[in-house]
Amino acid sequence: MSTLSNIIENEDMEKILSEFTRLEDQCYLENAGSSLYPESLIYQVNQDLLRNVYMNPHSDKYTKDCVDHIRSSILRFYNTDSSKYSVIFTSGTTQSLKLVVESFQFAYDQNEVQNCGSFVYLRDNHTSVLGLREIASDKNADIIHISHDDFLNALNLSHSTSNLSMKGRNNRGGNSLLVYPAQSNFNGYKYPINCTEKIKEGCLDNYVKKNLCKINCDWYVLLDAASYLSTNKLDLSKCQPDFVALSFYKIFGYPTGLGALLVKNSSNEVLSEKRYFGGGTVDIVLSNEDYHMKRELFHERFEDGTIPFLSIIALKHCFDVINGLIPKVINNDLMDTISYHTYFLAKDLYLQLDLLYHRNGQKAVVFYTDSEFDDINKQGAIVTFNILRSDGSYIGYAEFQHMADLFRISVRTGCFCNSGSCQRHLNATNKEMKDMYKAGHKCGDEIDLVNGRPTGAIRVSFGYYNTFKDVDRLITMISQCFVHTKPKKVKRVRHQLDTKKSIKEEETKLLNEEEYFNKINLIDEQIFDSDITLCEMAIFPIKSCGAFKINSSWKIGSRGFEYDREWMVVKDNGVCLTQKQNTRMCLIKPKIDLKHHLLILNCQGMPALPLPLTIDDKKKANATFCQSKVCTDIIEGYDCGDEAANWVSNALGVSFLRLVKQSGEVKRLQKNKKDNSGPKLLSLSNQAQFLLVNKATVRWLRDEIKDPQFNDDIDQLTNRFRGNIVIDMEQELVERDWNRILIGKHEFKVEGPCSRCQMICIDQNTGDKTVEPLRTISEQFAGKLKFGIYLSYIGTVDGSKDCTLKLNTPVKPIINDDDISR
Ligand SMILES: *Cc1c(COP(=O)(O)O)cnc(C)c1O
Repeated sequence: MSTLSNIIENEDMEKILSEFTRLEDQCYLENAGSSLYPESLIYQVNQDLLRNVYMNPHSDKYTKDCVDHIRSSILRFYNTDSSKYSVIFTSGTTQSLKLVVESFQFAYDQNEVQNCGSFVYLRDNHTSVLGLREIASDKNADIIHISHDDFLNALNLSHSTSNLSMKGRNNRGGNSLLVYPAQSNFNGYKYPINCTEKIKEGCLDNYVKKNLCKINCDWYVLLDAASYLSTNKLDLSKCQPDFVALSFYKIFGYPTGLGALLVKNSSNEVLSEKRYFGGGTVDIVLSNEDYHMKRELFHERFEDGTIPFLSIIALKHCFDVINGLIPKVINNDLMDTISYHTYFLAKDLYLQLDLLYHRNGQKAVVFYTDSEFDDINKQGAIVTFNILRSDGSYIGYAEFQHMADLFRISVRTGCFCNSGSCQRHLNATNKEMKDMYKAGHKCGDEIDLVNGRPTGAIRVSFGYYNTFKDVDRLITMISQCFVHTKPKKVKRVRHQLDTKKSIKEEETKLLNEEEYFNKINLIDEQIFDSDITLCEMAIFPIKSCGAFKINSSWKIGSRGFEYDREWMVVKDNGVCLTQKQNTRMCLIKPKIDLKHHLLILNCQGMPALPLPLTIDDKKKANATFCQSKVCTDIIEGYDCGDEAANWVSNALGVSFLRLVKQSGEVKRLQKNKKDNSGPKLLSLSNQAQFLLVNKATVRWLRDEIKDPQFNDDIDQLTNRFRGNIVIDMEQELVERDWNRILIGKHEFKVEGPCSRCQMICIDQNTGDKTVEPLRTISEQFAGKLKFGIYLSYIGTVDGSKDCTLKLNTPVKPIINDDDISR
């Protein structure tokens, strides 16, 4: 059996993996976003809650004792105790950070607002830290940001000039607060955490100047430990920041909504400016006079309202379960073991990616790291990078995300809420960042390249439940989809990985091989006078299910073709099910029987089920009205009853599904229309009323697909694109330049190209997944996954009310808007 980890024995690793069988074949590489909870944790928490009576800790001593016991477990986990640190429960890191700055006394003397200290932050912080400057500036603190390099240099210039003994006594500079991450959530770089002393000694004093004079201030350190603690040990007996912010889901995966602020007891007096008080934080409060006294006990002053006591009780089981699950191989310590295990996975990925080359010798990966994975004290279990094509151009992260989704690999793409690091690594100036924003790019959107430059990156992060198999899954996916050379294996030796030399020789051999993939020129003359016909029409009565092919003519309604996407399958959580999650959906082939006014559900191995096409008003009153989400819109509809629900659940092999018919009254409107033709009504189709596919383009694509395992004929390949209107002509790809089209007397407006996702990789006859045609489309169109065009209906050119579209009608495209006389 192959090695799973450099640190944890295979047998122990198997035991860990048995806690995550729910992943099935999903490869989870997003530990930095959230850890995953082991199954027995949920079981134990449930057992506890089922057996015990927990009450509001304000009224129940027993529950309060449990909570306080867990406070001390947390402190023990970080190798300290209540004589040195206090635990304040918060909703997470973000709230912990906010609480510190809201309460922090920047002025040396509370009555003197003049001499305020500074709020100093590293530019490479998480967005949640950047937002703190708004609070700090309201409190008259100077706002100062330090670059990555300056910060590390300042810490390395060991001896500070100021004299610690002089401080405090003669302080006129107020209190300054430094915030920085223990580990970058962008690329896993670990900043020094045992430098609190140096900072207090004044190694950053040079950055804090007022009127060009150096200021003598007292320094406090707020450590954002959210990313660091997910896979690392924090020993508060060795390093002692004044404040530590953390979120528990990043360590244990569960519970969410719970974090902590650890406060060094000797520094608690500087948190004197908390204004708000809520239930539980005061000893006395008068409701008709501005009089209240805060609680004596430090943490009680900061925990407004009822703390999430059941989540806190779950924490006890987090510590227990993790302790039982992870063998303490390194330093006899749980977190150190996780730290090394995950570090070596990340390092292995880093080395393998570093060895990926295209056939022409072009390196395939650019890294955004601040360490070369040669020191575990400087690097955590995160690898951040982008992929290049063989011509050196960037593959956008959105394109990568599509392929990753197809392979069921979960990674994070974009800027990961860390614009400072993103900007530094992508080499973008402030002006360029603003220009990208003006070009339409926003945090977290799909605009992954602006003028060929990446707006974000790919982040892979590892947790204790990952193994070398996950690394291999990702490497295989990347080489199969983007590099097309065989990946080179990195030898996996315990604690040492230096096999670069022997691998180099193999590389040079590969470089001489001829280039396998040829480029094509997409730009060609357009021919409009060729005979173009409407050769196929289809509707998809149930969203994401099989097509109903129309054999003569069909009516156009206010939302597109009649009965197109009128129904949807909804999960028990109310969310619409799509083929992305359940590929079997394409095997359900609904038919519309207009004569008998029926929707007939068909699926192999299932008896056909007829349902009424419409729900009449009398029945509507009794039908369950339900809401579901389709592409961020809330859709309302009527439940089609238990028989339909059971049929769909059986056909798809998923319990508790419901079939819902879109209600006639609720209108989905097509978004972002710049012209003033007015918004168009939509059914449950995703973007526009109609999708047009050109069969010539499909033939062209079929020729471009070189994968010998891909056996689709032209019709099968056409079916994957799920068009409503299929036209046939000689020329491929020309449809992208059309503005309007006439199909007989019916006029349509082109709304733009259709963005594709992994759904086109589902064989619509079998439900099997393939890599093609997504890979070839991506390659041919430089990462833009566009195929087919969206149309909306304008009306008939002769003004007649006949809205029936017939097969084999001639099609006339119009490129220029002026071209049409109406
Ligand atoms: C995740 C993260 C945060 C934010 O944590 P929340 O749980 O979302 O409040 C802040 N800083 C870093 C470094 C993080 O990784």
